[in-house]
Amino acid sequence: MLTLCLDIGGTKIAAGLADPDGVLVHTVIRPTPSGAAAEQVWGAVDATIADALHAADGAVTAVGIGSAGPIDLREGTASPINIKGWRGFPLRDRVAAAVPGVPVRLGGDGLCMALGEHWRGAGRGADFLLGMVVSTGVGGGLVLGGVPYTGRTGNAGHVGHVVVEDGGPPCTCGGRGCVEAIASGPSMVRWARANGWSAPPGAGARDLAAAAAGGDPLAERAFRRGTTALAAMIASVGAVCDLDLVVIGGGVANSGRLLFEPLREKLAEYARLDFLAGLRVVPAELGDSAGLVGAARLATL
Ligand SMILES: [Zn+2]
Repeated sequence: MLTLCLDIGGTKIAAGLADPDGVLVHTVIRPTPSGAAAEQVWGAVDATIADALHAADGAVTAVGIGSAGPIDLREGTASPINIKGWRGFPLRDRVAAAVPGVPVRLGGDGLCMALGEHWRGAGRGADFLLGMVVSTGVGGGLVLGGVPYTGRTGNAGHVGHVVVEDGGPPCTCGGRGCVEAIASGPSMVRWARANGWSAPPGAGARDLAAAAAGGDPLAERAFRRGTTALAAMIASVGAVCDLDLVVIGGGVANSGRLLFEPLREKLAEYARLDFLAGLRVVPAELGDSAGLVGAARLATL
């Protein structure tokens, strides 16, 4: 008995086969065709599914899909901001047609990351959990009362678009001052450059982290600004959802102490209510496979 799990994002399409304990026994990864039309992107997903099904040799009993969002669970569609060819793309039905005869369940990639960490990673034992990814964007998903919380359309947990700065920088969502527009890797790099950080043209978040770790004051300020925004968002979401744990993964989270120490300091300043005293913030454990593991979990719930 294997679950076929999919993790579909703007840069890669991954398929996995998970055993009943959530262990990935097989993984296939393909790049997402960039700027491609809907059917071309689907072609890559379909080929990835075919590879996994071949390896499974008929043992697949359920399918879970984690897709970049927004999605719409009512229609089973995906319109990922970073896959421009897909707008209202009927992802659930297409996957169901490619893997006939088994149940297929769709969820957002942030939700699947949170579920994966809750099942087999840093979130084990925590039943009110926010899973977050801080990388080129800021994404997230909620597990509340031990079960995935999808919201009305499947998009609950889009914590990157919690507004933390009135009149702040413009965001990819069309709004302003969202935490993603301040704390994502590219946003921190953009702010650092605008304030005089002199780095080579191609330098990114990793270089900024290295500079901050090396004591560059401007890079340190950029990180502090990002972590302050994240702390404000986490304190707010923590209070709204009465959370006990926040798990953070993604490229920026890999900068370790540089992120977590100032974040915990600021959080202690913002989250003052008694019921938030035990709110912990920890690094993710599953890395890139969290989304696949969570999609497998989603399929069997
Ligand atoms: Zn936004």
